Amino acid sequence: MPRDLTCVYRALDVAEADIVAAWLDDQGITVHVKHRHAGSQVPLTVAPRGIEVCVIDPAQVESAEALVREHLQHRKEKTDENAAGRSIEAVCEECGKASRFPFEQRGTVQTCPHCRRYLDLPEA
Ligand SMILES: [Zn+2]
Repeated sequence: MPRDLTCVYRALDVAEADIVAAWLDDQGITVHVKHRHAGSQVPLTVAPRGIEVCVIDPAQVESAEALVREHLQHRKEKTDENAAGRSIEAVCEECGKASRFPFEQRGTVQTCPHCRRYLDLPEA
């Protein structure tokens, strides 16, 4: 095993580490994932700080770090998108039209955007 590995990413599990490693590999970065040999169920006692994705070639560390930042940013945007995309549908008893509301408003009383009457949003 090469010495002086530089860890550029700590994943919470092997699956995530593999995604980052494969992605970096696609960008031409040679990586080594620590603890991979332990299988998919790595106990936290083995990897208390997560699964480390390391760069073997010191010359590639900088670009790898930049790529990881990009990856994290992209993932965050995706998560935000998912959260924003979560909504519930409610059918107004007064006018019979369906409307979508933010998921956070489930189980509350809102106003029907079509007829402006009160509308009970379902729990889920
Ligand atoms: Zn209505």
